[in-house]
Amino acid sequence: KSGFVTIIGRPNVGKSTLINRIVGEKLSITSNKPQTTRNKIQLIHTTQEAQIIFMDTPGIQKPKNKLGTYMLGVSRETLGEVDVITAMVDASKKIGSMDQWIFKELEGFKDKTPMILLINKIDEISKPDTLPLIDQYAKLNLFEEIIPISAINGENIGEYLSTLESFL
Ligand code: GDP
Ligand code: MG
Repeated sequence: KSGFVTIIGRPNVGKSTLINRIVGEKLSITSNKPQTTRNKIQLIHTTQEAQIIFMDTPGIQKPKNKLGTYMLGVSRETLGEVDVITAMVDASKKIGSMDQWIFKELEGFKDKTPMILLINKIDEISKPDTLPLIDQYAKLNLFEEIIPISAINGENIGEYLSTLESFL
Protein backbone atom coordinates (compact mmCIF):
# COMPACT_ATOMS: atom_id res chain seq x y z
CA LYS A 1 0.00 0.00 0.00
CA SER A 2 1.17 3.52 -0.65
CA GLY A 3 -0.37 6.95 -0.64
CA PHE A 4 -0.08 10.68 -0.23
CA VAL A 5 -1.01 12.60 2.90
CA THR A 6 -0.84 16.21 4.03
CA ILE A 7 -1.12 17.78 7.46
CA ILE A 8 -2.81 21.17 7.67
CA GLY A 9 -3.55 23.48 10.54
CA ARG A 10 -2.93 27.01 11.71
CA PRO A 11 0.59 28.03 12.76
CA ASN A 12 1.89 26.60 16.06
CA VAL A 13 -0.54 23.68 16.40
CA GLY A 14 2.43 21.31 16.17
CA LYS A 15 2.63 20.13 12.54
CA SER A 16 6.43 20.28 12.32
CA THR A 17 6.79 18.63 15.73
CA LEU A 18 4.67 15.70 14.50
CA ILE A 19 6.67 15.38 11.28
CA ASN A 20 9.89 15.33 13.31
CA ARG A 21 8.43 12.75 15.65
CA ILE A 22 7.53 10.48 12.71
CA VAL A 23 11.03 10.93 11.30
CA GLY A 24 12.25 9.51 14.61
CA GLU A 25 10.48 6.25 13.87
CA LYS A 26 12.38 3.73 11.79
CA LEU A 27 12.55 3.87 8.03
CA SER A 28 11.62 7.47 7.47
CA ILE A 29 13.37 9.77 5.08
CA THR A 30 12.84 13.46 4.58
CA SER A 31 13.27 15.25 1.34
CA ASN A 32 13.73 18.86 0.40
CA LYS A 33 13.50 18.01 -3.28
CA PRO A 34 10.41 19.46 -4.85
CA GLN A 35 8.47 16.69 -6.57
CA THR A 36 7.37 19.30 -9.04
CA THR A 37 8.38 22.91 -8.70
CA ARG A 38 5.31 23.43 -6.57
CA ASN A 39 4.44 20.30 -4.62
CA LYS A 40 6.87 19.36 -1.93
CA ILE A 41 7.55 16.00 -0.38
CA GLN A 42 8.25 16.48 3.32
CA LEU A 43 8.66 12.92 4.45
CA ILE A 44 8.36 9.33 3.26
CA HIS A 45 7.44 6.94 6.05
CA THR A 46 7.78 3.25 5.30
CA THR A 47 6.33 0.40 7.32
CA GLN A 48 6.03 -3.29 6.45
CA GLU A 49 2.55 -2.62 5.15
CA ALA A 50 2.72 0.79 3.57
CA GLN A 51 4.63 3.73 2.24
CA ILE A 52 3.17 7.05 3.39
CA ILE A 53 4.28 10.18 1.58
CA PHE A 54 3.69 13.43 3.48
CA MET A 55 3.25 16.51 1.30
CA ASP A 56 3.67 20.11 2.42
CA THR A 57 0.74 22.49 1.93
CA PRO A 58 2.02 25.73 3.45
CA GLY A 59 -0.51 27.96 1.70
CA ILE A 60 -3.62 26.87 3.57
CA GLN A 61 -4.42 30.16 5.21
CA LYS A 62 -6.50 33.19 4.41
CA PRO A 63 -4.51 34.99 1.71
CA LYS A 64 -3.35 38.52 2.46
CA ASN A 65 -1.81 39.34 -0.94
CA LYS A 66 -1.23 38.01 -4.46
CA LEU A 67 1.47 35.57 -3.38
CA GLY A 68 -0.84 34.26 -0.66
CA THR A 69 -3.61 33.77 -3.20
CA TYR A 70 -1.21 31.89 -5.47
CA MET A 71 0.03 29.69 -2.58
CA LEU A 72 -3.54 28.93 -1.56
CA GLY A 73 -4.27 27.81 -5.11
CA VAL A 74 -1.24 25.51 -5.07
CA SER A 75 -2.18 24.09 -1.68
CA ARG A 76 -5.76 23.47 -2.78
CA GLU A 77 -4.38 21.58 -5.76
CA THR A 78 -2.30 19.43 -3.41
CA LEU A 79 -5.30 18.85 -1.13
CA GLY A 80 -7.19 17.62 -4.17
CA GLU A 81 -4.44 15.12 -5.01
CA VAL A 82 -3.70 13.49 -1.66
CA ASP A 83 -5.31 10.24 -0.51
CA VAL A 84 -5.86 11.33 3.08
CA ILE A 85 -6.11 14.82 4.56
CA THR A 86 -5.00 15.35 8.15
CA ALA A 87 -6.10 18.48 9.98
CA MET A 88 -4.55 19.46 13.29
CA VAL A 89 -5.85 21.61 16.13
CA ASP A 90 -4.46 22.59 19.54
CA ALA A 91 -6.20 20.96 22.52
CA SER A 92 -5.14 23.79 24.80
CA LYS A 93 -6.76 26.50 22.67
CA LYS A 94 -10.34 27.31 21.74
CA ILE A 95 -11.37 26.88 18.10
CA GLY A 96 -10.14 30.09 16.50
CA SER A 97 -11.10 31.95 13.35
CA MET A 98 -8.12 30.46 11.55
CA ASP A 99 -9.20 26.92 12.49
CA GLN A 100 -12.68 27.74 11.25
CA TRP A 101 -11.34 29.12 8.00
CA ILE A 102 -9.48 25.82 7.44
CA PHE A 103 -12.57 23.74 8.27
CA LYS A 104 -14.47 25.71 5.66
CA GLU A 105 -11.78 24.90 3.10
CA LEU A 106 -12.14 21.23 4.01
CA GLU A 107 -15.89 21.23 3.36
CA GLY A 108 -14.98 21.14 -0.33
CA PHE A 109 -13.21 17.81 0.10
CA LYS A 110 -15.89 16.10 2.15
CA ASP A 111 -17.04 12.80 0.60
CA LYS A 112 -14.02 12.90 -1.74
CA THR A 113 -11.04 12.44 0.53
CA PRO A 114 -10.92 10.78 3.95
CA MET A 115 -10.08 13.30 6.65
CA ILE A 116 -8.49 12.69 10.03
CA LEU A 117 -8.44 15.30 12.80
CA LEU A 118 -5.55 15.29 15.24
CA ILE A 119 -6.18 17.10 18.50
CA ASN A 120 -2.59 17.82 19.50
CA LYS A 121 -1.04 18.85 22.83
CA ILE A 122 -3.29 16.64 24.96
CA ASP A 123 -0.44 16.63 27.47
CA GLU A 124 -1.60 20.16 28.25
CA ILE A 125 -5.17 19.26 29.21
CA SER A 126 -6.68 16.96 31.82
CA LYS A 127 -7.90 13.48 30.80
CA PRO A 128 -11.61 14.23 31.56
CA ASP A 129 -11.48 17.23 29.21
CA THR A 130 -10.48 15.06 26.24
CA LEU A 131 -13.83 13.44 25.46
CA PRO A 132 -15.89 16.67 25.39
CA LEU A 133 -13.25 18.12 23.09
CA ILE A 134 -13.57 15.17 20.70
CA ASP A 135 -17.38 15.57 20.76
CA GLN A 136 -17.07 19.23 19.92
CA TYR A 137 -15.02 18.51 16.79
CA ALA A 138 -17.17 15.51 15.87
CA LYS A 139 -20.12 17.91 15.51
CA LEU A 140 -18.40 19.44 12.48
CA ASN A 141 -19.21 16.25 10.60
CA LEU A 142 -16.01 16.47 8.59
CA PHE A 143 -13.73 13.82 9.99
CA GLU A 144 -13.71 10.03 9.65
CA GLU A 145 -11.45 9.78 12.69
CA ILE A 146 -10.57 12.14 15.52
CA ILE A 147 -7.41 11.22 17.39
CA PRO A 148 -6.07 13.03 20.45
CA ILE A 149 -2.27 13.07 20.34
CA SER A 150 0.79 14.60 21.86
CA ALA A 151 3.35 15.22 19.14
CA ILE A 152 5.91 16.17 21.75
CA ASN A 153 5.77 12.97 23.80
CA GLY A 154 4.61 10.63 21.04
CA GLU A 155 1.25 9.72 22.55
CA ASN A 156 -1.08 8.06 19.98
CA ILE A 157 1.28 8.71 17.05
CA GLY A 158 1.26 4.97 16.34
CA GLU A 159 -2.52 5.02 16.27
CA TYR A 160 -2.45 7.93 13.84
CA LEU A 161 -0.05 6.12 11.50
CA SER A 162 -2.08 2.91 11.53
CA THR A 163 -5.29 4.87 10.92
CA LEU A 164 -3.59 6.50 7.93
CA GLU A 165 -2.59 3.07 6.61
CA SER A 166 -6.15 1.85 6.94
CA PHE A 167 -7.29 4.57 4.52
CA LEU A 168 -4.69 3.73 1.86
P1 GDP B 1 3.58 24.26 13.47
O1 GDP B 1 3.63 25.74 13.25
O2 GDP B 1 2.20 23.75 13.33
O3 GDP B 1 4.57 23.51 12.64
O4 GDP B 1 3.97 24.03 15.03
P2 GDP B 1 5.35 23.54 15.67
O5 GDP B 1 5.57 22.09 15.43
O6 GDP B 1 6.42 24.47 15.28
O7 GDP B 1 5.01 23.70 17.24
C1 GDP B 1 4.66 24.95 17.81
C2 GDP B 1 4.92 24.91 19.30
O8 GDP B 1 4.10 23.95 19.95
C3 GDP B 1 6.37 24.50 19.66
O9 GDP B 1 6.80 25.28 20.74
C4 GDP B 1 6.23 23.05 20.03
O10 GDP B 1 7.22 22.62 20.94
C5 GDP B 1 4.86 23.03 20.69
N1 GDP B 1 4.24 21.69 20.61
C6 GDP B 1 4.11 20.91 19.51
N2 GDP B 1 3.50 19.75 19.82
C7 GDP B 1 3.23 19.79 21.15
C8 GDP B 1 2.62 18.87 22.07
O11 GDP B 1 2.18 17.78 21.74
N3 GDP B 1 2.49 19.31 23.37
C9 GDP B 1 2.97 20.51 23.79
N4 GDP B 1 2.82 20.81 25.07
N5 GDP B 1 3.56 21.38 22.95
C10 GDP B 1 3.70 21.04 21.65
MG1 MG C 1 5.80 24.22 11.08
